[in-house]
Amino acid sequence: MDNAIVIGSGAGGAMCARELQGRFKVTILEAGRAFRPLTANLSLLEQFRKTGLLFDEREIGWIFPAMKVRKTGAGMILVSGNGSGGTTTISTGNAIRLDHGLQALGIDLDEEFAELFAEIPVFAGHQKKWRPFTRNVFNICREMKLDPQVMPKMGEHAHCRNCGRCVLGCPHGIKWDSRRLLDQAQQNGARLLTGHRAKRIVHENGRARGVLARHGPNTKWFPADLIVLAAGGLGTPPILRNSGIACEAKLFVDPVLCVATEMKDSFQNREMPMPFAVQKKGYIISPYFDHLSFFFNREWRRKAGDIYSLMIKLADDNQGSFIGGRVEKILTANDRKNLEEAAITCAEIFHRAGVDKNQLFFGTVNAGHPGGMLPLTAAQARTFHDPRLPENLFVADASLFPASLGNPPILTIMAMAKRIAKLCRGGNG
Ligand SMILES: Cc1cc2nc3c(=O)[nH]c(=O)nc-3n(C[C@H](O)[C@H](O)[C@H](O)COP(=O)(O)OP(=O)(O)OC[C@H]3O[C@@H](n4cnc5c(N)ncnc54)[C@H](O)[C@@H]3O)c2cc1C
Ligand code: SF4
Repeated sequence: MDNAIVIGSGAGGAMCARELQGRFKVTILEAGRAFRPLTANLSLLEQFRKTGLLFDEREIGWIFPAMKVRKTGAGMILVSGNGSGGTTTISTGNAIRLDHGLQALGIDLDEEFAELFAEIPVFAGHQKKWRPFTRNVFNICREMKLDPQVMPKMGEHAHCRNCGRCVLGCPHGIKWDSRRLLDQAQQNGARLLTGHRAKRIVHENGRARGVLARHGPNTKWFPADLIVLAAGGLGTPPILRNSGIACEAKLFVDPVLCVATEMKDSFQNREMPMPFAVQKKGYIISPYFDHLSFFFNREWRRKAGDIYSLMIKLADDNQGSFIGGRVEKILTANDRKNLEEAAITCAEIFHRAGVDKNQLFFGTVNAGHPGGMLPLTAAQARTFHDPRLPENLFVADASLFPASLGNPPILTIMAMAKRIAKLCRGGNG
C-alpha cells in the first residue's frame, strides 16, 4: 500500500488521515504531545494571579502545553492548539457552515457538508442552560434588532455541565474535537506520532519524496507517496518556506477584543462560552469569558464570577505574513473601523442592561483563526491543488481560505479536507 504522511492532527489533518487510511498507509506527524485538558483548579490560579508572576500570555504553555501562544511584532496574542486534535481541542465547539467565499470560486461542498452533519453531533438546544444575565443580554440583542442566533455546538451538549472550560479542553468529554477522527484513523491502522515536528518537505522534479521531521534531538526521514500538509494557518507556511515554496502575505487571524464589565454573580466563567452570536458585516458579537485576559491583563484582576464579557470577533483584512520567522500582523484602518463600530454596539447592549460605559473595560487583543496564506483560486476549484506545490503534496487546512470567515471555521475546514481526501483517493495524489 502507498504511504501517506499527514502533517498536523487538527481539523484538516485528522479528517484527511481518517479518510485516507485504508487507501493509503497513513502516518500522522504531530508536533505537540497527546492532548490533556487543563485540570488545574481555576480558583487556585485566580489566587496565583495576585503574585504578579502571570504577566506574559506565553506563560500559559507552562501549565497547559496544549495551548500555544505567540505574539506578533505589534503585540497581538495568537493562540493555537499544540497537540493531538490541534486547535479543535481548545475550541468552544461552534459549528457553522461558512463556505460563501468558496462558492464564489465555483466550489460546491454540499456533499461534504451533508456527510459532516450526518456524522458530527451538533446540538443547539442549550438555551435552557443559560444563566440569567446571558438570557437578559440575548433579549436585549433582540430588542435592538441585532437578530442574535443560538450557536450550534459540536458535541453532546444536551449533557453539557456548563463548567465554562471549553477553551481549556472539555474535562467531561462532551465537546467534540478532532481526536475522535484520530481514534477512528488509528483503529483502521493509521499511525499517530506525537512530538514529531515536520521541518521540510523534500521534493524534486515536481514530486514530493518525503518529510524531514524533528523528534527530540533527532531528525527523522519519512518517505511518502502522498503528503497532506495540515499544520494550521501558522504552521503550514513555515514548512512550505523551508521547502522552498513561497506563500502569500495574506494572513488573516480573526482578532478578538472583549468588552467587559463587573456584574456581580453573573458566573460567566462557569457557563458554556459563545452560547449565541450576533452576525454583522465584518464582525460577530458573542458572550465569552476571556481566560487569557483574566489571567494576564491587569484590568481583569477582579473576581471571576463577577466579570461579564462580550467578545468582538473581526473578519480582518487578509494582510499579514511571517518576517524572519515572526508573525507580522496589524489591524488595518478598515479593521479598526469595524472594531470601533462593534465596541459601540457592545456598549449599547451593556447600557440597556444597566451598565454605564465608564464601568466597561477591555480584554487583550488576541486571535485564534489564522489562515489564508495559500488561498484557493477559481482555477483550483476542481483540483484543490496549488500549482506551486509538487503534484503529490496537498495543503488541507485554514491556509486555503481566500479570505477571513470572521467566524468559526472548523466545519468548513473539515469539508475542504474531506474533498481533498476524495481527490487523493481517486488517484490525483
Ligand atoms: C480559543 C479558540 C477557540 C476556538 N473556537 C472555535 C469554535 O468554537 N469553532 C470553530 O469552528 N473554530 C474555533 N476555533 C478555531 C479552530 O479551532 C481552528 O481554526 C481550526 O482548528 C484550524 O484547523 P487547522 O486544521 O487549520 O489547524 P489546527 O487545528 O490548528 O491543527 C494544526 C495542527 O498542526 C500541528 N503542527 C503545527 N506545526 C507542525 C509541524 N511543523 N509539524 C507537525 N505538526 C504541526 C499543531 O500542533 C496542530 O495540532 C477556535 C480557536 C481558538 C484558539
Ligand atoms: S462548558 Fe464544560 S462541559 Fe460544557 S462543553 Fe464546555 S468544557 Fe465541556
